[in-house]
Amino acid sequence: MLRADFNRVDPKRRQVLDHRKRQFADPTYKQAEYAHRLNFYETPPTADITLEQFEQWAIDRLRVLAELEACSFRNKTQAETAAHMKPLLEKYLPLDSNTAASTQLPAQRQKDHYSHFILRLAFASTEDLRRRFSRVETMLFRLRLDDGLTRERNAFIQSLNLDWEAVTKEEQDKYFAELSATSGLRKGEEDTWYKVDWERVPDLVEARKVFLKAGKAYVPSKELPSMVIAEFTKRLDRALELTARALPRLDEDDRLTPILDHLSKNFVTPDASYSSSTSSVPGAEITARNVDNLSQHFPLCMQHLHRSLRRDAHLKHFGRLQYTLFLKGIGLNLEECLIFWRSSFHKITDDTFNKEYRYNVRHAYGDVGGDSNRRGGGYSPFSCQKILTEHPPGPGEAHGCPYRHFSLENLTTLLQQTGVSDRSVLQGVKEDKDNQKFHMACNRVFEYVHKNELRKAKDESIMSSQQLETIVHPNEYFRRSFLLKNLGKVKEDQDVKMEGF
Ligand code: SF4
Repeated sequence: MLRADFNRVDPKRRQVLDHRKRQFADPTYKQAEYAHRLNFYETPPTADITLEQFEQWAIDRLRVLAELEACSFRNKTQAETAAHMKPLLEKYLPLDSNTAASTQLPAQRQKDHYSHFILRLAFASTEDLRRRFSRVETMLFRLRLDDGLTRERNAFIQSLNLDWEAVTKEEQDKYFAELSATSGLRKGEEDTWYKVDWERVPDLVEARKVFLKAGKAYVPSKELPSMVIAEFTKRLDRALELTARALPRLDEDDRLTPILDHLSKNFVTPDASYSSSTSSVPGAEITARNVDNLSQHFPLCMQHLHRSLRRDAHLKHFGRLQYTLFLKGIGLNLEECLIFWRSSFHKITDDTFNKEYRYNVRHAYGDVGGDSNRRGGGYSPFSCQKILTEHPPGPGEAHGCPYRHFSLENLTTLLQQTGVSDRSVLQGVKEDKDNQKFHMACNRVFEYVHKNELRKAKDESIMSSQQLETIVHPNEYFRRSFLLKNLGKVKEDQDVKMEGF
């Protein structure tokens, strides 16, 4: 998924950079010292690294962050995420404690430091990328904070010089009842509290783990990590805003801009990209004339495209692209796909179809177009993430994700038209939508629509819990739906054994 085919610049040109580009860096390049395993990334790196290190370190960190985002999409708990991430972190971004007898400490910490700043540049450009980057970096920081030795963690927190005000003994006595109610402290026990603006610890406030008074939250020492994490996010968000403002100056650097562009485009969860090698659905007749029948297994985004196409005998550009790639992903070959589009656009002549639409379908399949498109077999089907975040539909367009891009009324109507009228499901979808958990709404509907088959599959141990993880790709939705609705047939086929899940 991640390729290193960036434009390179003649190394000699590095010597003749415009003087204006030098003004943002400390002219005395020096190696940073890393006293602590953890880092708040306050100081940008200033030592020289090669362009290869620049790319590779960033790609390694990106792998980690993308996997973390996938964990959160799947609603994994903190403990499950930690267990899942352990081998990946050891492979791509190891970070030993000071007590480890490793000679790699400085190199590990340097890589961690530099890769963070490189990705900060790559992901500062849009608000959506900044938000996602801040979220996954915070997840990574939290994992490492939880994982480290207490002594080293406390030393790191001390080194931050955070301006938290310790609560005096008199105040502790005065509010003893309130403090012990939120922290579980009993008479005779001792603890230390810190007073901070309540906005700095929103998760503690939400979980009612702190006493609030005059805009201040009284945080017990055991909750210090939450405060540190909130502070980490706050500073990172601020730093990302500043980086975004400085980005136009970086545009002049044609060594880095292509690399950074490429990195940000590759910020997709690994399993959100759909591999055609796993796309075949055993027993399915994937032909142009069977698409109507197959559409019962489509997720709402594709059902809406299909219905719009049948209603109007037409779809606009992004709708055609989203739907063509999805059909390609379910296994419809190019020839059948051309038949499908030609017959669906029945109000136009052959000549118009050939002139205006045929090429785009072939292009999506990699049958025509640039070399890299042809080599790669065309474009990949869009993941939910891509559909949710790119090219929101405008008037008259049917692409996008209905859970995100429809009003609640229109979404409810569409769901009812597709047979989802259960009030508790619709209420759950509303709440998911309100909380911007669009893929959770989609999974909720999937579970409702397939509830009998899912129960059967679980009872008969046909599917493991891993195979039932949250769907994050429309093609995965189709695949699971088709296999579940054809459980009997699949069971007969011992070779298949639902291995595609
Ligand atoms: Fe389609 Fe994904 Fe939206 Fe579901 S969540 S409707 S699969 S884009």
